[in-house]
Amino acid sequence: MNYNNQMIDIISKLDEKKKILLHSCCAPCSSSVIEKLAPFFDITIFYYNPNISPKEEYELRKQEQINFINKLKNKYKVNYIEADYDNNLYEDEIKDLKQEKEGGKRCFICYELRMDKTALKASKMGYDYFTTTLTVSPYKNACKINEIGKKLEQKYQIKFLPSDFKKQNGYLRSIELSKKYKLYRQNYCGCIYSKKDIF
Ligand code: SF4
Repeated sequence: MNYNNQMIDIISKLDEKKKILLHSCCAPCSSSVIEKLAPFFDITIFYYNPNISPKEEYELRKQEQINFINKLKNKYKVNYIEADYDNNLYEDEIKDLKQEKEGGKRCFICYELRMDKTALKASKMGYDYFTTTLTVSPYKNACKINEIGKKLEQKYQIKFLPSDFKKQNGYLRSIELSKKYKLYRQNYCGCIYSKKDIF
């Protein structure tokens, strides 16, 4: 499946700017995604990442996301909403999967937890589409993310924008933009288990 082509096809058929709720994991990943989608969508960033640990790191990434949106204000108008930080909920969801390697089943639950809340929010608030920045990372499973998105589309009756944001130099562009805007780029994915894998 070429999810990037699917996205291009959907965008090419839009007759006007649509409202999209864009789940974002962090400012650097959102950078090239915002640049790509802004000509076609009114974007609202949804910051919901209960997987991030410790809390100080969560606050740091969240604040960086807000700062980045503020830096963009003369270029693109991007709205921002957030949900509560509930790391206990995340821990509950993955309690039997702590030993999984990064990229395995624990991550699939983690993607779905964040995307489910995004789809529900988008549906309740009357957005046209929802999607996530997660596919910009070459370390994330784009197939699984798109599979989850399609499932949630049915569950909440809200259109999912398929994506593979790392394509067409999307990942490289996120690195360039992170440098340009001097964004904080973390050195582990987010959960405490991914941190332990590094240190
Ligand atoms: S490694 Fe990243 S995607 Fe996987 S469970 Fe941890 S925070 Fe979530």
